Amino acid sequence: MSKLFEEFQNYLNQMNQYDHVITLLYWDMKTNTPKLGQEGHVAALTHFSAENFAMSTSDQLGEMLTGLSESAEFEELTDTWKFIVKRMKRDYDRNKRIPADLYNTFVEAQAQAGIVWEEAKEKSDFSLFAPSLRKMIDLTREMTGYTDPGKEVYDALLDQYEEGMDSATIDGLFEALKRELIPLVKEILGKQKPDNPAFSGFFDPNGQRQVQDMLLSYIGFRKDAGSVGETEHPFTLNFSSKDVRVTNHYYEHDPLSSIFSAIHEGGHGIFEQNINPEYDNTVAGSCRYMGLHESQSRFYENILGRNKNFWIPVYDRLGELLPPFKEISLDDFYQEINHVRNSLIRVNADEVTYCFHIILRYEMEKAIFRDQIPVNELPALWNQKMQEYLQITPANDAEGILQDMHWSDGSFGYFPSYLLGSIYDGMLLDKVREELGDVDELLRNGRIGEITAWLNKKIHWYGSTRKPKETIAAVCGREVSAEPLARYFKEKYTEIYHLG
Ligand code: ZN
Repeated sequence: MSKLFEEFQNYLNQMNQYDHVITLLYWDMKTNTPKLGQEGHVAALTHFSAENFAMSTSDQLGEMLTGLSESAEFEELTDTWKFIVKRMKRDYDRNKRIPADLYNTFVEAQAQAGIVWEEAKEKSDFSLFAPSLRKMIDLTREMTGYTDPGKEVYDALLDQYEEGMDSATIDGLFEALKRELIPLVKEILGKQKPDNPAFSGFFDPNGQRQVQDMLLSYIGFRKDAGSVGETEHPFTLNFSSKDVRVTNHYYEHDPLSSIFSAIHEGGHGIFEQNINPEYDNTVAGSCRYMGLHESQSRFYENILGRNKNFWIPVYDRLGELLPPFKEISLDDFYQEINHVRNSLIRVNADEVTYCFHIILRYEMEKAIFRDQIPVNELPALWNQKMQEYLQITPANDAEGILQDMHWSDGSFGYFPSYLLGSIYDGMLLDKVREELGDVDELLRNGRIGEITAWLNKKIHWYGSTRKPKETIAAVCGREVSAEPLARYFKEKYTEIYHLG
């Protein structure tokens, strides 16, 4: 080991200690800190974040990365460390180009816009949020000029969340889906079913907690390397592959929400727990590609969790833990978890109409960054697209354009990740069938562990070292295509809805 490499290791180790504390503070704030204690945590979090940011942009780090990138030093490194040095050098150069005052303005505007968004949503008044949104759009555009000089703004934003993806590829995928799904969804909605009142009765939150526990173990989330918390919105957070945390929220009159959140976050968690431990606490670990990450959570939630056979081995246990399910047949349960509705809210959408919620947001973001459509025209555009895709119009802004917090955060370009995840899932399902055999049969016989082991080996192990397109090419042997997902939907809903 060269002296420079040793020095670099020590430096990284120090940065990791800050990271660890920051993650812990964040977790505690979200799950455990009383209201009056928040302020103290925010102060500590701000302090350690500033220290960490200073270390990640210091001249000392820059010199080490430059030194290690020179051929004599670089050739000495293992492949993993070659990846880490290259990746860190790129991030470092990118961060260094952002003027400090612009960065601070952005962070401040982000916090401000979040507060304004909440109020605007509460009052269901887009005009309150419009100035903040305009500011976030302008600042995002300006930031991108520094982080990705010379690159078209929206493509640069997409690349930040799903590296290697661009709007030309996504246009092709989403247009192909639209062609197939617009007529399919119209046909399904023509056979609308009444709501089943059995699912809005009282479901004990304590029982729901036990169900979450049972499901996490069932799909392969390891308790010796993971734990569970409760928050307003479910999320997954990780320190390393050895400590992964998931959260959930329990609604007394909506048991399916926590059940499917448990499986979804469990999928994210299983991904993080099974990354090569050699990558822990480096940029090679913790998968930073949002589409690829979503492909795993959504594979468990939708492809497996909304398959009837998934429930056969555990349905009796579900009834023991939440007795109202004893009164609901597995068939009725299966119908309900695949009930298609043209609803207004993305996070409550079923598996197939969900696609339109994302396509709509993607097209809006392109209109914002490419066509420079004025902010005050956005609600009308939103409503027009809702009508086009789902034949409904929001009654107000709160259930329309104000429903998600992403844009207040400046997370433009994030939304497509969710649907890219599902598109990858269609392809992965084909491949699992090819290599492991009939998925229905595996699930029916409680052999879900074999599917988890396959995903561990084919995808999770690589962490961030393989970009999404590379991963799909390596695992599926072909380019990303929406055809398998469209076919999956067609087959599934033709059976459930007895389509012609
Ligand atoms: Zn997710």
